[in-house]
Amino acid sequence: AYGPAPESNAEALAWLAKHKAGFGHFINGAFTAPEAPFETRNPANGAVLATVSQGSEATVARAVAAAARAFPKWSATPGPQRARVLYALARLVQKHSRLFAVLETMDNGKPIRESRDIDIPLVARHFYYHAGLAQLLESERPGMQPLGVCAAVIPWNFPLLMLAWKVAPALAAGNTVVLKPAEYTPLTALLFAEISREAGLPKGVLNIVTGDGETGAALVAHPGVAKVAFTGSTMVGQRIREATAGQGKALTLELGGKSPYIVFDDADLDSAVEGLVDAIWFNQGQVCCAGSRLLVQEGVADRFHAKLKRRMDGLRLGDPLDKCIDMGAIADPVQLETITRLVDGSEGQIYRAATPVPQGCFYPPTLITGLTTSSPLMQEEIFGPVLVSMTFRTPAEAVELANNTRFGLAASVWTENVNLALDMAPKLKAGVVWVNATNLFDAAAGFGGVRESGFGREGGWEGLAAYQKPARSARTLKPLAA
Ligand code: NAD
Repeated sequence: AYGPAPESNAEALAWLAKHKAGFGHFINGAFTAPEAPFETRNPANGAVLATVSQGSEATVARAVAAAARAFPKWSATPGPQRARVLYALARLVQKHSRLFAVLETMDNGKPIRESRDIDIPLVARHFYYHAGLAQLLESERPGMQPLGVCAAVIPWNFPLLMLAWKVAPALAAGNTVVLKPAEYTPLTALLFAEISREAGLPKGVLNIVTGDGETGAALVAHPGVAKVAFTGSTMVGQRIREATAGQGKALTLELGGKSPYIVFDDADLDSAVEGLVDAIWFNQGQVCCAGSRLLVQEGVADRFHAKLKRRMDGLRLGDPLDKCIDMGAIADPVQLETITRLVDGSEGQIYRAATPVPQGCFYPPTLITGLTTSSPLMQEEIFGPVLVSMTFRTPAEAVELANNTRFGLAASVWTENVNLALDMAPKLKAGVVWVNATNLFDAAAGFGGVRESGFGREGGWEGLAAYQKPARSARTLKPLAA
């Protein structure tokens, strides 16, 4: 252990003890009796945290029915009144932020510093921002109306933040929601369900059904759902697109990535190394927009790799509740197996950081060089703390290498030459391009991908627009003269 004392998990343990009979689903403002229980564990030590329910098709149908019943009243509620509830949700997330952060860390394995200082504050910011949009809707987007019942299916890497990305705009626009959290990390969504009552959210406006991909598939396919918002793997995203094709449902997909991190020889190399630590070792690399492909200009490649390895060696792995660690646990043993298999099968030179790795679901910061562009590790999302690296000579070559994947979520460009950065940005096939920065998110900025990273934007007015449709033609057309 590195830190003086781990963050206290007493409040979280008390909350879990209160629910030791197991969690049901949250439907129509109340928790159902538990059904078909399965366990959710702390990946850092394997301890069972709670049992939650596997939602069946019938459960999904009940939740969609509750959301449909709540829709007429909630959608007719004036925006400023909906805003009050969203402000209350934001304040309650802040009030319970420590409990949310500790629970998130226990359920997911991410460092407490991240859940406490990044995930949960961003969740509160998301609800505040969308409360503001709800107040402005009638004046800024007249003639638009909500879609109806929205299905939200989310992954395990940012459990509460992904809930916020979907629930805040949906509710702000006047929709009702059925959300299915990931099977590995359902706990903060269930706590959120509890606080939604305290915030005065009317019954049925937000429903949460837990379970695995089968529950998700039943929700997505339900005919009462008007829109599906999905964040997760490209493979499941493709399945959802097929399943909803022809059903007339609105759809947004936020999928995987293999984002390039491009370092030019004039870049501030120390800052670029720090940025890279954030790009690929934040949340153990389990980030959709992780800068997982380093492209470094040939002249500085050796120097940059040497600096990077020194920094990797100093990264501290350990108890995610320890405030002084840099990296926590991988979210699930299955995910750890996938990472291990992919790296062990690599034909490149593997550098594993010389830092102690705790027993269990942990994986060291890893750098792989000497790969060809067609190597699976260069092309496929690893979703772990593994960076692959290549060199380039010219900006044109950097663009070609950067765009040489099926994904297009994010890209990061490091140079002191602003003209070069501005020239590169539009040539990169990515939904987001950061210059001398990485992993910047804000509720006001639309985020999303191109190509196989998905379509649609979350955040900002454009994110909100994905939860609305035109109510009627904006002007009355005169019939053509006979
Ligand atoms: P996943 O696709 O396995 O699961 C995501 C969610 O979909 C889970 O809730 C799961 O239960 C559900 N699901 C699984 N099969 C389903 C089906 N057939 N129909 C409906 N729902 C189904 O993804 P994951 O492993 O939980 O998350 C990691 C992936 O998410 C990575 O690929 C990552 O890049 C991506 N991700 C993308 C973004 C983004 O904004 N683009 C953000 C975070 C994560």
